Amino acid sequence: MPELPEVETVARDLRPRIVGATIVGARCSWARTLRTRSPEAFAEAVAGRRVEAVGRRAKQIVIDLSGGAALTVHLKMTGQLFVVPADAPEDPYVRLVLELGDGREVRFRDIRKFGKIGLYGRDPVSGELTVDVGGAAVFAAIGPEPLDPGFTLRDFRTRLRRRKGRLKPLLLDQSFLAGVGNIYADEALWTARLHPLRTVRTLRPPDERRLFEAVRSILAEAIERRGSSIDDYTAPDGDGSMQERLQVYQRTGEPCPRCGRPVKRVVIGARSTHLCSWCQRLTPADRAAASVILRGMTDGRRRPGGRWTGLAGEGVVGRTPAEAEQATRRARTERTQRAAATRRAAARASMAGSTPS
Ligand SMILES: [Zn+2]
Repeated sequence: MPELPEVETVARDLRPRIVGATIVGARCSWARTLRTRSPEAFAEAVAGRRVEAVGRRAKQIVIDLSGGAALTVHLKMTGQLFVVPADAPEDPYVRLVLELGDGREVRFRDIRKFGKIGLYGRDPVSGELTVDVGGAAVFAAIGPEPLDPGFTLRDFRTRLRRRKGRLKPLLLDQSFLAGVGNIYADEALWTARLHPLRTVRTLRPPDERRLFEAVRSILAEAIERRGSSIDDYTAPDGDGSMQERLQVYQRTGEPCPRCGRPVKRVVIGARSTHLCSWCQRLTPADRAAASVILRGMTDGRRRPGGRWTGLAGEGVVGRTPAEAEQATRRARTERTQRAAATRRAAARASMAGSTPS
């Protein structure tokens, strides 16, 4: 699922394409894509409005429109945004279209249909997006932006010390920090040499500092590299390259870039977590408390049940560890290539519509 760097990249690509354009209509083929209104009411509400700004808050794109309105786009699992000429072929996965006055369309393509688009008002006093005038802010429950220049180590510490629990679920908690998801939580914890199951109360000040710096540097680098193009993520200007720089995410069984021991995978709160259990140690107390979760840990070769396995699953049962590791790597390469081919096909039409006609 696209996280802060991917969503930021989509917003940056979109901005020069659509700011200044006027929306003249909207078509929606999957009503549940809309958070707040019926397709008809939505089309009526956006028609005639000019796009004034494109930004991001947490994992959502925010498109400010004239007259104090704003659209939010949550890409969720498979959402993609393209700007294409109106006569470009439209595939069946396009769920919502904003028709622009200059003959182009903003198309929201979403294979799995989890994506959401909201239409809100911007409160003239607070500047917050709200459902109704004076109503609750849309992003009220979302934590601070980790890359906000005003967000300091001191703020991070204060927030951290108010929390309990383990680091991985905490980093994924959007009320703690905005925009971090599974990929960058794993990468930040590895960089900071902190075990994902470490509890917050065992952190010492240097640990807190390393985590703060790791989260910010990973996210900043990922934005620079236009995000990680894994599975369905792509942006209007094309794929990102951060996936080539990931150290542990989806690298189960491969050597840890720091110590050479195999990267391990464990499921924490139903999410795959990747770590090096040598570089990311647990305190004895945390280890005892986390033993049930750690029992499920794998290095992509031997499952707790004793069968050889890997990302390729059942196909590698009965092979040697080296063969299994090779099969795992091959399966990942094939999956990545398949996903890239699908993305390229979808992006081709978008590239054609890069410049206003
Ligand atoms: Zn290591």
